[in-house]
Amino acid sequence: MKYLDEFRNKAAAKRLASRISSEVGEGEVTLMEVCGTHTMAVHRYGIKGLLPPNIRLLSGPGCPVCVTSNRYIDKAIAYSKQSDVILTTFGDMVKVPGSRSSLAREMSRGADVRIVYSTTDALKIARDNTERKVIFLGVGFETTVPTVATSILEADRMGMKNYFVLSAHKLIPPAMKALLDGGELKIDGFICPGHVSTITGTQVYEFIPRNYRVPCVVAGFEPVDIMQAIYTLVQQITRGIAEVANQYRRAVRKEGNPKAREVIYEVFEPSDSDWRGIGVIPQSGLMIRQRYRKYDAEANIDVEIEPSAENPRCICGAILRGVKEPLECTLFGSLCTPEHPKGACMVSSEGTCAAYYNYGRQMPKKPEG
Ligand code: SF4
Repeated sequence: MKYLDEFRNKAAAKRLASRISSEVGEGEVTLMEVCGTHTMAVHRYGIKGLLPPNIRLLSGPGCPVCVTSNRYIDKAIAYSKQSDVILTTFGDMVKVPGSRSSLAREMSRGADVRIVYSTTDALKIARDNTERKVIFLGVGFETTVPTVATSILEADRMGMKNYFVLSAHKLIPPAMKALLDGGELKIDGFICPGHVSTITGTQVYEFIPRNYRVPCVVAGFEPVDIMQAIYTLVQQITRGIAEVANQYRRAVRKEGNPKAREVIYEVFEPSDSDWRGIGVIPQSGLMIRQRYRKYDAEANIDVEIEPSAENPRCICGAILRGVKEPLECTLFGSLCTPEHPKGACMVSSEGTCAAYYNYGRQMPKKPEG
């Protein structure tokens, strides 16, 4: 297949569904799509409806906004209240509830929070407001980090003194390892993230089949991509094979993008990081290296926050570990909606709760009459 249309071809998706069905037979198979963009695509295209009932497809921790801890959000909110700070962020973060407030609420109270579309916008705001500190919320996985690292290099090149990054960047493979080590679920195969893999390459997943005998397939985001990935996983599982396969060869190479990784590791170094629902995962985050520490918001701008707390009725953490589904949350679709989110998984355009809500195929039935 060469053209995008071919990856959206309904007949091809249905043919794959029938092959998957024959291949899996009666066995129960649990697969996890790690990435939030896959979660959205699975729901948008009704992939679950094409699969036989003995294939369970779970969503994982691959939505960067969702896995960002409340403590980080509380800190961002505390920064936004400082009168000499301009907080810049991508849009999704603004509505995420922290322990006691959200950035959206603080904006309505006068905090200077500006939604940007790129780090270039954030740098421009810093250049135009040299008397104020401009903090960019660095949230995202391997795909997002190169642009943030580049913004720090650019700030350094220009000798800027008022641009800072509050880093909550995270790395996907350590989270997959944490899920496998956690042992809460038996995962038979992973659909690995396409975008992240353009940077990391496929080699970063090789420890999973080697150490855990769990197959991995890097996949694209069209329905036929996902169905092909599931077919490959099921073939490996039924035949007792565990390998890393690359279904998304039109975008992902085994070695990924070494230049982008060079930029990342010029500016950042691995550090332990706190994931919502999972906790602290060793070496799963990225902190700014000593050489560029003058651009690290936490190292340079004091802020005090009260202890963070989760909404006890929000089960987002369990959803991110794949052990619960949004319909098990008592707030889903009633008190918690994309307009009035009570948890991060309903806010983000890649959140599992938002996917269930927006593509409604699995909404609870409304009472008749
Ligand atoms: S529906 Fe809302 S409250 Fe429930 S788990 Fe999802 S985000 Fe949390």
